[in-house]
Amino acid sequence: GIIVENVSKQFGSFKAVDSVSLEIGSGSLVALLGPSGSGKSTLLRLIAGLELPDSGKILLTGKDATYQSVQERNIGFLFQHYALFKHMTVCKNIAFGLEIRKAQKAKIKARVEELLELVQLSGLGDRYPSQLSGGQRQRVALARALAPEPKVLLLDEPFSALDARVRKDLRAWLRKLHDEVHVTTVFVTHDQEEAMEVSDEIVVMNKGRVEQIGTPAEIYDRPATAFVMSFIGPVN
Ligand code: ATP
Ligand code: MG
Repeated sequence: GIIVENVSKQFGSFKAVDSVSLEIGSGSLVALLGPSGSGKSTLLRLIAGLELPDSGKILLTGKDATYQSVQERNIGFLFQHYALFKHMTVCKNIAFGLEIRKAQKAKIKARVEELLELVQLSGLGDRYPSQLSGGQRQRVALARALAPEPKVLLLDEPFSALDARVRKDLRAWLRKLHDEVHVTTVFVTHDQEEAMEVSDEIVVMNKGRVEQIGTPAEIYDRPATAFVMSFIGPVN
């Protein structure tokens, strides 16, 4: 799993992440939920090693990773606009991370087939990104992130650029995929409905701090603070 211990990150005098502690169980799917500017992406980037904390510790699968490089952390990423390589086919895009690790050709081919099936794109391996829908592209990007078998998968609003209906489909699909793959996943969203539907646990953030951590039901039924109450509260 992932342990974040009292982590802070400032930009100038602004505290983007303020003494955050949380524990994400191995194999679980956790949503970081909060309004714009609450520090969700910064926290995700700290876990990934794309930013270094000013103080605090980050442990990945029991090891202190605070000062590990991005590569050493063995993490898969997916961002809102995670550009695929336009001049490469779907298969090549997915294989990229395996080829740079010098995996055997036959192994790469088998793994790519397996991943295509997992993201339900079998048969589309020879297409180029421009020949896919937005939702299909994000699924390719997810297959690419999963290819090297990361210990941790970090998703920063991966579906927010897509239209509402596709986003809803992908949500349900991500949940199903996670039940098959069981990689520890942190999913950033500012959409409460999305967080409720997809995750095992929700971390509610506000102004760089954690307001509450709990299952969707706990957060909905027993909001711990006035902020959580107003942010989660019954949707009209
Ligand atoms: P959103 O939902 O809009 O993506 P967020 O919760 O992901 O918001 P962050 O991107 O983590 O928020 O940003 C938290 C705060 O830190 C914001 O006020 C942002 O302007 C600031 N911030 C983030 N990165 C930097 C940076 N590199 N330099 C200066 N300020 C930054
Ligand atoms: Mg963000």
